[in-house]
Amino acid sequence: MTALLEAVGVVKRFGGLTAVDGVDIEVAPGEMVGLIGPNGSGKTTLFDCLSGIQSIDGGSVSFDGVDITRRRPHQVARLGMARTFQLIRIYRDLTVLENMELSTQWAGVGLRDLFRRADAATRRKGEDLLEFLMLGPMRDEPAGTLSGGQRRLLEIGMALMSDPRLVLLDEATAGVNPSLVEDIKDRLRAVNSGKGVAFLLVEHNVQFVADLCERVVVLDAGSKLADGTPGQIMDDPAVIEAYFGAAGRARQTNAGDAGGNGTGAGP
Ligand code: ADP
Ligand code: MG
Repeated sequence: MTALLEAVGVVKRFGGLTAVDGVDIEVAPGEMVGLIGPNGSGKTTLFDCLSGIQSIDGGSVSFDGVDITRRRPHQVARLGMARTFQLIRIYRDLTVLENMELSTQWAGVGLRDLFRRADAATRRKGEDLLEFLMLGPMRDEPAGTLSGGQRRLLEIGMALMSDPRLVLLDEATAGVNPSLVEDIKDRLRAVNSGKGVAFLLVEHNVQFVADLCERVVVLDAGSKLADGTPGQIMDDPAVIEAYFGAAGRARQTNAGDAGGNGTGAGP
């Protein structure tokens, strides 16, 4: 099967630090893949490299058979790759529905488009997606009034407005209360099975990834440490030491703080 996303030997340096160090990663059409690793292991930077936000210092990235190594973020988005951010990017003073409408216009990138009223079809699509994400009752509220979990759902909705084939989700459960985590999981599964949208999920919540993904990639210090089923990953001694070992130690010294990476608070 041809990969939808195929990255080979991706390298990203910041001065003397190699944040991403020769990573290969593939996502097939309709696949859900988890990307885990300790804090600072390069997950977000890899997302930035894949989505065109960061230029890369080595390797190549292709999407749907097109070489996107040197493409800009909006060009990548137009090809069908959407992403969310570890620190949520929404317009707090605009309504929930207005945020949805603006997100498709971002794909067009004309500044004029941002101030134009959304057309009826865009509005309808935004309303339908908000219903699907259980945000229908909130659609006319300022987005700043949403809870952390609802903002994550809104960001997922905004990513889905452009009918992507692949969505990169960065810490979709950070700062989300456990009941809403289950709702997010359920909605992602529905988007995947209903529309065939592929996902690459960066997560601290390993159980969330294990529940949703057939395959998990583990990063450690910028390099790929493992790539396998959730069961294989969790039994891998190198992964246990690098990831679960560190997380376990953090939990012991940091009682009550599950992730311990301080990403819970959005902007
Ligand atoms: P993760 O998402 O896995 O927690 P990141 O990709 O955010 O990790 O960071 C990987 C490494 O790269 C860290 O050491 C981080 O400090 C560094 N880093 C990330 N972005 C930048 C940047 N813009 N400039 C310099 N260093 C950065
Ligand atoms: Mg990160």
